[in-house]
Amino acid sequence: RIGTAALAVQVVGSNWPKPHYTLLVTGLCRFQILQLLKEKPYPVAEVEQLDRLEQFTNQHKSEEELGELSEQFYKYAVQLVEMLDMSVPAVAKLRRLLDNLPREALPDILTSIIRTSNQEKLQILDAVRLEERFKMTIPLLVRQIEGLKLLQKTRKPKQDDDKRVVAIRPNRRINHIPSTTEDEEEEEDHDDVVMLEKKIRTSSMSEQALKVCLKEIKRLKKMPQSMPEYALTRNYLELMVELPWNKSTKDRLEIRAARILLDNDHYAMEKLKKRVLEYLAVRQLKNNLKGPILCFVGPPGVGKTSVGRSIAKTLGREFHRIALGGVCDQSDIRGHRRTYVGSMPGRIINGLKTVGVNNPVFLLDEVDKLGKSLQGDPAAALLEVLDPEQNHSFTDHYLNVAFDLSQVLFIATANTTATIPPALLDRMEIIQVPGYTQEEKIEIAHRHLIPKQLEQHGLTPQQIQIPQVTTLDIITRYTREAGVRSLDRKLGAICRAVAVKVAEGQHKETKPDRAEVGEGEDCKEHVTEDAKPESISDTADLALPPEMPILIDFHALKDILGPPMYETEVSERLSQPGVAIGLAWTPLGGEIMFVEASRMDGEGQLTLTGQLGDVMKESAHLAISWLRSNAKRYQLTNASGSFDLLDNTDIHLHFPAGAVTKDGPSAGVTIVTCLASLFSGRLVCSDVAMTGEITLRGLVLPVGGIKDKVLAAHRAGLKRIIIPRRNEKDLEEIAMNVRQDLTFVMASCLDEVLNAAFDGGFAVKPRVERLNSKL
Ligand code: ADP
Repeated sequence: RIGTAALAVQVVGSNWPKPHYTLLVTGLCRFQILQLLKEKPYPVAEVEQLDRLEQFTNQHKSEEELGELSEQFYKYAVQLVEMLDMSVPAVAKLRRLLDNLPREALPDILTSIIRTSNQEKLQILDAVRLEERFKMTIPLLVRQIEGLKLLQKTRKPKQDDDKRVVAIRPNRRINHIPSTTEDEEEEEDHDDVVMLEKKIRTSSMSEQALKVCLKEIKRLKKMPQSMPEYALTRNYLELMVELPWNKSTKDRLEIRAARILLDNDHYAMEKLKKRVLEYLAVRQLKNNLKGPILCFVGPPGVGKTSVGRSIAKTLGREFHRIALGGVCDQSDIRGHRRTYVGSMPGRIINGLKTVGVNNPVFLLDEVDKLGKSLQGDPAAALLEVLDPEQNHSFTDHYLNVAFDLSQVLFIATANTTATIPPALLDRMEIIQVPGYTQEEKIEIAHRHLIPKQLEQHGLTPQQIQIPQVTTLDIITRYTREAGVRSLDRKLGAICRAVAVKVAEGQHKETKPDRAEVGEGEDCKEHVTEDAKPESISDTADLALPPEMPILIDFHALKDILGPPMYETEVSERLSQPGVAIGLAWTPLGGEIMFVEASRMDGEGQLTLTGQLGDVMKESAHLAISWLRSNAKRYQLTNASGSFDLLDNTDIHLHFPAGAVTKDGPSAGVTIVTCLASLFSGRLVCSDVAMTGEITLRGLVLPVGGIKDKVLAAHRAGLKRIIIPRRNEKDLEEIAMNVRQDLTFVMASCLDEVLNAAFDGGFAVKPRVERLNSKL
């Protein structure tokens, strides 16, 4: 109930790497708690002061009474201090203090200096009466003196330890974290530093690093622990020791085995696998890493990360993924300087520490999503990391010494190359990983995804059966993606639902009245028939017909995943004139896009909605100009029958998914078709999609991303695709089965596009009606 009132003079410390605070307080007086007023959020109590500072100066009476005791105490104190090394400034100061301070203050001060347990210190604090305090402290002093004498006898020449008592003690005074084992801790810390030094000397770090470390450890030894820098320096040294300066795994590379492993792990993606094997073969022949850095570019969920992991597996190397999405500070790559509070090494060095070897495979995920900010450009920092000419001496700001990254195998992934800074792009070899066709997805699902999901959910093929038609249903009606990630998720949802049934079924089987029921197929009917009359009372049993294996058919699918999210039927949307289907490329794969147009009375204005970029707006203007100039030829009229299409007419063009910014020239032909449909009042064929850039004179120019666009059209169940003639070569990349399902119309001018887009063609009117001139 007795405490010490104190004034907090200073708080120092940091939260990183571990919270570590030092409180500097000046003790004022002892007090006693009379009544506790409240405990939360911090205790508030009514207290009574027990000893007063002024007492020391004007209490002559007590001084006389205590004269003998205090004199005795003073002598012991002087004896103790003089046994210490007077050349240490702190000791000399203490000696002076003994003479200058009032005697009454000495017990408190000396108790904090000598080696005692916390328990004893608390006892001294609890001793309110001066006399009692003197009496309690004297034995402690005597004990310390005896201890020192013994020590001096045994280790005459070595006075370090005595010095330490004093040199460390005064610092300890301010380090008032209650702990009964403080002394032991201190010794341990000292031992730790010695251990650390040993580790540094035996580690295989570079000469330069060793020099820096030894310098730091020298500093550390002199530093009081309470300094925030102590923890920082120590962490730094620990990191330096932990880094794999010279530790590497042995590469085991055998191309034949690598091919088998890649084939086993991944279905399809032949082009990618071929290139990876070439890369590995070169590595095998020429034991040197100075090759290009591979960068896999493709929509999400097509297996880029997982191929990276397979490469590490084939090489027998450690794998570490560094997610770069959203990183906008170069310190993330290169670390903070150690002068910052909370400074840390960058992700590269951290990754090396995690894997513990200096030749891992680092997967730099999402390099296209690097940001830029005031804190510098992380892409620029990556340049140094990825450049084989420079990265043998990569200097992290935190380490401040070079680390050799030349053994690390870097692989990057991205969704698009458009946002990768050119300098970075230049360092890498781009390998496109396009999306999958439906057939490929079915194979991937049955070879890889379903077995993996079954294993994760503790199911066996005897318990659940997913036929291929169901997988196709999931792919076409529940997902719309280039990769297989949401397919994987849907399969996961199915497995979860089945797991519940199976678990409930097991519960039922373990019941005694069911024990005799066999597991054989032929017993099943008999079970369900028999079960009914018996289990009327047991409703839970009635609700469960877990007939193994549980077959996932269309109805089960609807039960588990809900009604289908996508319908392949697109013709409904094309039931009015003024709608056409375009094909767009996005970083997430190809997509189909319904372009809509409508007209109304107005003054010839064109409104465009759907967040379009400048290029797309220009395409719209081009399309309208071309149609206006060819209106007569195609018999296109505005609402009042005039060939001047914009006369008293406003046009509104809309591109859906308004939240996504769209740009690029490839919507040109779609806009023309859509407007031609609007002005002619005819419907565009419901099974045709198109892509292509247009010119003012009506030519159709080639565009990019044909493969993704064709796959998207195929996914959506369209039958015909109009593409620019000069893109014909791109079709070779497309799988045969997809090509067989689709009809391709090659167009080199807009006449051909319109002819293909409308049922029965879009006839050109013979130019006989010249008389119909407005003049
Ligand atoms: P990404 O990095 O391209 O976004 P991931 O590598 O994370 O995609 O792949 C998502 C999931 O799909 C992984 O579980 C992966 O195993 C699986 N996957 C993707 N493509 C294939 C494939 N061709 N064969 C087998 N599994 C695949």
